[in-house]
Amino acid sequence: MLYYQPFPIAMDKGEGSTLWDIDGHEFVNLCGEYTAGLFGHSETRIHTAVHQAMMRGLNFAAVGRAEYELARLICARFPSMELIRFTNSGTEANLMALTAARVHTGRDMILAFRGGYHGGVLLFTPEGPSPVTVPFPFLSANYNDTDSAAAVIAHNQDRLAAVIVEPMLGSGGCIPAESSFLQMLREATREVGALLIFDEVVTSRMSDGGLQKRLGITPDLTTLGKYMAGGMSFGAFGGRADVLSLFDGRLPHAGTFNNNVLSMAAGRVALGEIFTKEVAEELYVRGERLRTALNDRLMKLGVSMHFSGLGSVATAHYRPPLIRCAYTPTTREDGLRELFFLDMLKAGFYMARRGMIALSLPVLQSDLDRFIDAVEEFARTRQGLLGSGSARAR
Ligand code: PLP
Repeated sequence: MLYYQPFPIAMDKGEGSTLWDIDGHEFVNLCGEYTAGLFGHSETRIHTAVHQAMMRGLNFAAVGRAEYELARLICARFPSMELIRFTNSGTEANLMALTAARVHTGRDMILAFRGGYHGGVLLFTPEGPSPVTVPFPFLSANYNDTDSAAAVIAHNQDRLAAVIVEPMLGSGGCIPAESSFLQMLREATREVGALLIFDEVVTSRMSDGGLQKRLGITPDLTTLGKYMAGGMSFGAFGGRADVLSLFDGRLPHAGTFNNNVLSMAAGRVALGEIFTKEVAEELYVRGERLRTALNDRLMKLGVSMHFSGLGSVATAHYRPPLIRCAYTPTTREDGLRELFFLDMLKAGFYMARRGMIALSLPVLQSDLDRFIDAVEEFARTRQGLLGSGSARAR
């Protein structure tokens, strides 16, 4: 992720949405720490909360007020969250949610989608589970393929413990789920007695209560992570009280730093005071406008490149829309992805190397306007390499 040829840029400091590397070059940060950097680098209220928490002393091996308040905030906002437990990462949150589902149902199998990413040890390539993925008995299906996923669920109904799904494939290319696909997963899991888990580690920013609230589809369990503790390490899993109550004695949930005071204090302020319902909606709309503007420019040039995504998160693809599931890029697409990343660095924009952008709250509209121009410039100068495309992007 972070290493590339001829050498990776080492960052020195950040302020708002600006980054400086160790040689003093300045960049607009459109990577947004892979969606964890929603508040930018220097939000005063988060800095103050962290400093105040430090002044009261680091970690007490006990529950605390900020933890209680953050839990209440999240449960009030996310439709599926009756109870919640904290972890240090999205990976741990997903491991715990999957384990809870297996114990609750007394079954072993899990359906995950090709191209899904649920953590460092929960990676599903376009072909299926990666060798780094933990050895749970996973079943695979193609994202947005309603019929084949329904068939896998029906065929394994006696052994299926859970279906885990990102409501938008994040690292798999910012490919939104079709509402009918998620709706089928909701109904089919209910019918066979399996649990539906929404991994909202990335998509939780799509409203004050995640993409589940925007879509009106409520899973049994939800996992969270990234920006929610204002940039401190964070993860959480929660949902139906009858499932979460497993942890009231029957199942252990250990982790030294699960409720560490810095994450809890920063999270309480980040969600309680900064990322309000209105701010979440504004950011969503801002991202939608940006993606539309980028795609309009690319379509006018007639090149085979477009951005897919939802709200404030988008990814560049070098093939015509509409992309409905994860794919293995061709050598040509791999080359274009690298070229786009390097050209954008040269133009002063730091983005995720895989072509993903994630807006942070402090990013300036003037910087986004300059980014649209820079993308157009890329498409013009690299037109011969991009080739032509036609269909309209969402
Ligand atoms: N789930 C999704 C959808 C993610 O994008 C990520 C991280 O990128 C994770 C889970 C894992 O979170 P973490 O890196 O905090 O372990």
